[in-house]
Amino acid sequence: MVQKAPEWLTLQFMEIKSGQTDDRIQNLVNQVRSLHAELDAEIRSFQSASGLHCLAGCGKCCLKPDIEATPLEFLPLALSLYHEGVAAEWQKSIESGDSICKVYNEGQSGQGKCTRYPDRGMICRLFGYSARKNKYSEKELITCQIIKEDQREAFDEASARINSDMEVPGAADFYARLRAIDAGLGGVQLPVNRAIAMALDVVMSYYFYKEREQA
Ligand code: SF4
Repeated sequence: MVQKAPEWLTLQFMEIKSGQTDDRIQNLVNQVRSLHAELDAEIRSFQSASGLHCLAGCGKCCLKPDIEATPLEFLPLALSLYHEGVAAEWQKSIESGDSICKVYNEGQSGQGKCTRYPDRGMICRLFGYSARKNKYSEKELITCQIIKEDQREAFDEASARINSDMEVPGAADFYARLRAIDAGLGGVQLPVNRAIAMALDVVMSYYFYKEREQA
């Protein structure tokens, strides 16, 4: 079942009714894109310092059925789909689909299987190139078995150096910054397709009310 926009979102719709003219969704999307761009820059530095990299065309991490994400990190994707006129179609397809990310396409040729790579979520960017703190307050890399085994030497070196002289994006820090943009949409973790569906629902509902009020 598609996750519906939470109750508190009606407050934003009420602002539309009261004549507020700025585009709240575009504004949120701009902030998320800017945070994603900052994260991408930190990831590039980390990749260059560590030498760690995904295998070309892999995409195996996207096949995990229990990937969780926030609706906010998929708001840029939802807005792009809305502007392309396919938001409702995507939402229906998510409703009837399985638990693998709807954006993933095994058959895509070339590099990677993500069909909306520039609009992918924050979790997609963080995985493989970020760290969390363990119970000893040491940073440990969030990565996959393939990288650990294929790039053992680089992985071991990076694992040691992120606790001394190597910068690495902190997953918790970036999620805290996402929550700071919008606590409701950025503070709830859902299975990835439900997060995308909710982002679509928010975008479609917002513009539905906006257009109706402006008609
Ligand atoms: S959005 Fe793209 S990168 Fe993220 S899980 Fe889905 S297919 Fe993978």
